[in-house]
Amino acid sequence: MPSESIFSKIIKGEIPADIVYQDELVTAFKDINPQAPLHILIVPNKEIPSVNDITPEDEPALGRLFSVAAKVAREQGIAESGYRLLINTGRDGGQEVPHLHMHIFGGRPLGPMLLRRQ
Ligand code: 5GP
Repeated sequence: MPSESIFSKIIKGEIPADIVYQDELVTAFKDINPQAPLHILIVPNKEIPSVNDITPEDEPALGRLFSVAAKVAREQGIAESGYRLLINTGRDGGQEVPHLHMHIFGGRPLGPMLLRRQ
């Protein structure tokens, strides 16, 4: 049986995390290595490895990622100032944890969307 992702362990409460929201479909918690004043991850409770692995049955959880992103942004006070939602996928996308997750970054101007090519 493949090993569980670190995020599955957080969802089940097996390792600690600062969880800001959880329901039957998704869990949101603070990133351990924040890249902005507010950096939260929202993950489907089901272990979907990446965007490439999404199936139609995952659509309710993926829709919930967005509605929870908006709720978290409101509750954390960044809805008006703005924020960035990001989902990395695969090697070139810079995905480190093989459990689909949406980043919410906010709390300061975030600059251009991508670094210019060196
Ligand atoms: P990725 O590069 O896969 O899109 O992002 C993975 C994110 O997960 C990184 O921002 C990293 O800091 C965060 N992360 C990795 N391990 C843990 C952990 O054990 N706890 C928390 N809260 N965040 C983690």
